Amino acid sequence: MSIRLLDDATAARIAAGEVIERPASVVKELVENALDAGATRIEVEIDGGGTDLIRVVDNGTGIAVGELELAFERFATSKVDATSDLLGIATLGFRGEALPSIASVSRVEATSRAAGQDSGERLLLEFGERLEFGKTGVPAGTAVAVRGLFSNVPARKKFLRSAGAELGRIQTLVTSYALVRSDVAFRLTAAGRERLVTPGGDDLRGAVAGTYGSRVAEAMLELPEPEPFADGVTPAFSVGGLAGAPSISRGNRGFITLAVNGRWIQNRRISYAIEQAYHGFLGERRSPIAVVLVKAPLNDVDVNVHPAKTEVRFLREDLVFGEVQRAVRSLLIATTPVPAFRPTTRPHAFSGSGGSSSGGPSVVNAPRTDLEQNPLWPSRHDEGTSGPETGVHVDATDAWMAGDQVSAVTPQQTQRETLPVLRMIGQAQETYLIAEGPDGVYVIDQHAAHERVRYEEITDALNTGTADAQQLLEPEPVGLDPRQEELLSDQLELIAGMGFVVESFGPATVLIRAIPRMLADRTAAAGDAFRGLLDEVATGGRYEAWRDRMIATLACHSSVRAGMRLSEDEGRALLRSLEKAEQPHTCPHGRPTMIHMSQPDLERGFGRR
Ligand code: ADP
Ligand code: MG
Repeated sequence: MSIRLLDDATAARIAAGEVIERPASVVKELVENALDAGATRIEVEIDGGGTDLIRVVDNGTGIAVGELELAFERFATSKVDATSDLLGIATLGFRGEALPSIASVSRVEATSRAAGQDSGERLLLEFGERLEFGKTGVPAGTAVAVRGLFSNVPARKKFLRSAGAELGRIQTLVTSYALVRSDVAFRLTAAGRERLVTPGGDDLRGAVAGTYGSRVAEAMLELPEPEPFADGVTPAFSVGGLAGAPSISRGNRGFITLAVNGRWIQNRRISYAIEQAYHGFLGERRSPIAVVLVKAPLNDVDVNVHPAKTEVRFLREDLVFGEVQRAVRSLLIATTPVPAFRPTTRPHAFSGSGGSSSGGPSVVNAPRTDLEQNPLWPSRHDEGTSGPETGVHVDATDAWMAGDQVSAVTPQQTQRETLPVLRMIGQAQETYLIAEGPDGVYVIDQHAAHERVRYEEITDALNTGTADAQQLLEPEPVGLDPRQEELLSDQLELIAGMGFVVESFGPATVLIRAIPRMLADRTAAAGDAFRGLLDEVATGGRYEAWRDRMIATLACHSSVRAGMRLSEDEGRALLRSLEKAEQPHTCPHGRPTMIHMSQPDLERGFGRR
């Protein structure tokens, strides 16, 4: 064969292989185009995990009459010209490859009208070939619908995961953009169901609420705007955004979102810097929720690393690492309650001084953090701030604490996640275990405590492949909708790892043959627990996130509830297991498992000293 130039269609298809790997890549390119066009509202609509339909509608600048077809030519871009410095690119796209690549592997319908022009254009392409083109009346902005993705590239299509899994990736992506671009209102719907909505208008907390829920949003702490230097110049690098209070930590790393100059990025070292900043604030194996927005001089950022463009290099990475870590660390030190157990009522409340702090509780036995010994943490960071050991307490930074009469243990801050040996005194209100240890009295929430124990058991069983299953005498049929069926087939391994043995049984039904042994004494609830697991997968997000939620769900279903009478032996057994837990102080959702009244608290409370 002699050397010849590839025809356009072939060249586009090859380029597509690099840029358009899966449905989420299409969403990424279209959303980035919308952002580059200055949109303030972006709607994403998905069907069939993106292979049936991906539609992105924006209210950006639109494409001028006569240019819509050009936009679908290779290397057509409005964003770079021959004189541009490729290092300093401020837009998200710049290669001019995305639209032709997408069009070469799907059917595309694009409509656009530039603001200020009376009519727009509509273009219909199939595998890169123009089918229809004409003028049309459409709202200002651009809409691109991509149908039948990869239908002419069966090999690529086979390589995709299930619709549910592809949707999960899309949701992760849109979540990330919604968080790093809170100036833009995002909406994602899939199969007609709304998956996330954010308000736009630079409301970052609102964006967190729209993606992770309002409980998380309330517990996010603000990274302060950097102070200008004395000469009025703001630092070249700055770090803003929101960092989660330690009370809302997660069991995996999927909740750290990074941006540089408004561009969502992935960078392991910077993520690590954030985790390091939480050192001593979170228990082992816990990871923070954070949206960290870095501003850096354009010339410090190299975006031209890979066509997919998410992994970004900094030319002075150590500097960025240090800035990010310092910003998050000092925020935590300044705002997080001291690591101490506090009395549940204010000693002099009866005298009417209610909320006054005079005579109020003081910090007792605050464990020292090991900040000072952490070589990764230069000591200057503690200057001028109150380290955890000095006892500053700021109320209501933690959502679960806000409005609470009692202040509970703030467990994530206790350094050694160990419990002393506890002597069971009894059960109160069929909900709490009362116990005493060498250092005072403990009130333990039996459900939260058991959830913690179960959570660690399940995690262990999954990691070691040792889940204990119990055969059901009578297999239980469970009805599934088509979506659940698909999720199930995708996650069979994980679910089996938890001890469920299921087999398909006619249309839309599965038979549960065995259940995790920890559910053995509540077989009636097995179906609910099982469906609960699938719901967690369906909620989407990142793999680690829903794996974690699935474990928490099973832990919840297999735990004693509030309002259950426990025998003394059962209570004691629970205490023993809790003592052995790695993080005995919190349940998997981050709520406390116990309240501790120390000996000095008691003495002070009763006016004995
Ligand atoms: P790139 O983004 O790298 O320039 P694309 O193939 O993604 O390449 O897009 C080609 C061109 O089409 C862009 O440079 C831009 O001028 C125009 N364009 C694409 N999408 C939009 C949009 N949503 N709104 C306005 N213009 C758009
Ligand atoms: Mg683009």
